Order: sequence, then C-alpha cells, then structure tokens
Amino acid sequence: MSNAKTVLVTGSTSGIGEGIAKHFASLGHNVILNGFGDANAIETLRSSISEQYGVKVRYYGADAAKVSEIEQMIASIEAEFGSIDILVNNAGIQQVAPVEDFPVDKWDAILAINLSASFHTIRCALPKMKEKKWGRIINIASAHALVASPYKSAYVTAKHGIAGLTKTVALETATFGITMNAICPGYVWTPLVQKQIPETAKTRGITEEQVINDVMLHAQPTKKFVTIEEVAALAGFLASDIASSITGSMIPIDGGWTAQ
Ligand code: NAD
Repeated sequence: MSNAKTVLVTGSTSGIGEGIAKHFASLGHNVILNGFGDANAIETLRSSISEQYGVKVRYYGADAAKVSEIEQMIASIEAEFGSIDILVNNAGIQQVAPVEDFPVDKWDAILAINLSASFHTIRCALPKMKEKKWGRIINIASAHALVASPYKSAYVTAKHGIAGLTKTVALETATFGITMNAICPGYVWTPLVQKQIPETAKTRGITEEQVINDVMLHAQPTKKFVTIEEVAALAGFLASDIASSITGSMIPIDGGWTAQ
C-alpha cells in the first residue's frame, strides 16, 4: 500500500512485541521482527504474518544487550527500507530477587536490555526520521515506570529510566513531526509474567496461585490481566496521525493499578 510505513518492534518473537508486530502488519505496514527463539518457529511466524497481511516482514536476531548488533540491524533496515518510521522499543527481561541477593550479571543485563537498548535504537534511527520530518517512537515501559514493587530493583530502575528518556527525547524531537511516548502496561499474560510466578512464590514464600491472585491481580482493581491486543491497539493509535499532539507521555494501561 502507498502509505505503508516501516516498523521495527524489538523483542517481537513473543508476547506483547509479537502482538504489536501483527497489529502493525494488519494495518498494512512492513514489519521488522527481532528477538530470540527457535529458528524454525521464528521463520514460521515471519512468513505467516507476511502471507496473512500481504506486507514485507523481516527478522533480525540482534541482541539488544549488544550495541554493535543494534547498530548493524538499524543500518541494514535503513539500507533496505530507507528509514524506520515507527520504532517500538519492547525487548525486555525480568528477574525477581531481594536487592542484597540480586545477581549482579542480571542487574547489568536488565539495565542493558530494558533501558540502554532504547537509547541505542533511538540515536541510530532518529536522524532518518528527522530528515523525513515524521516518526513515531513507542517505548513499552510498564506500570513499574510509575510505581515500584519489592524485589524488582533492576526492572523498576530501568523502567523509570525509560520515563526520563521518553520525556527528554520528546522535547528534542517536538518540532520534527516525531512523537515519543511510553505505554505503561500492568500485568499482561505473557511468557515474561508466567516465568516470574515461581520466582515470586519462592521469594515471598507463598504458592503460585497466591502470586497470581494476591500479588499480580491484587495490584489491578479490574482483577484481570491486560491483553496483548489492548496494548497493540494503543500502540497503533499512538502511531497514527491523529495522535500527533501526544508526546512525552507515560500512558498507563493497567486496569486501574496506578490510580491507587
Ligand atoms: P516476553 O518474554 O513474552 O517477550 C520478550 C521478547 O523480548 C521476546 O521476543 C524475547 O526474545 C525478546 N528479548 C529478550 N531479550 C532480548 C535481547 N537481549 N535482545 C533482543 N530481544 C530480546 O515478554 P513480554 O511480557 O511480552 O514483555 C515485552 C515488554 O513488555 C518488556 O519490555 C516488558 O518489560 C514489558 N511489559 C510486560 C508486562 C507484562 O505483564 N507481560 C507488563 C509491563 C511491561
């Protein structure tokens, strides 16, 4: 289609990122997938999105923790498509542990993947967006960019850092037709959340069922998980022209969590 954009979604081989990539493909945009996983499963995902929506879908396995791999990925995408129009910084990992026992290598990895990677994708993709005088940068932050929970020191620190980055870059790009916002989901039922249930049960000395009902859904007055489709639709709206006055915003989609 003539107004097809080029969309990079980091961490889009699973969960929220995969849902966002599919949503942008459904809107007729070309999509670049990124993330880890089984090579055959990723190729099936890539080709099925491309066939279903009739758009170009590429895959780059760049590790968000490695600056040179991010730089190479963006350069390759720009060589093929000219520029990245919509950048979704979504790749992220989690670790649950008391701060005094927090594994140092996990702290470094979470800061690199959940925070610094967004700085690197932004600084690499921005010059072409500025040339085109149009761009959308959407950071998948978290309710944990706005409030804290115990035992998630690295994650909460990185996500609060994303809030600062979002506001700062929004100011720097405000007159270039570029917006930069952060979506702040509450608990969404994805592998990232499923994996932290046993860790949280161990750290707090409670059952896995108690983690779901008394920790996760306790935080969400709606008493239900946010859906991937809801987050993807919000990303689609932020990328639309009608959202051009929304910039520098931290937008909760959290079932009322941060209203408390
Ligand atoms: P997920 O585990 O389902 O997906 C994470 C994705 O990131 C996968 O594609 C994975 O391969 C990729 N990834 C991990 N490390 C990477 C690396 N080093 N380089 C490149 N890709 C990498 O998780 P999710 O729940 O879909 O989370 C996606 C984002 O949403 C994260 O930033 C997370 O913090 C955020 N988020 C999730 C929730 C939730 O409840 N699930 C809530 C708020 C925010």
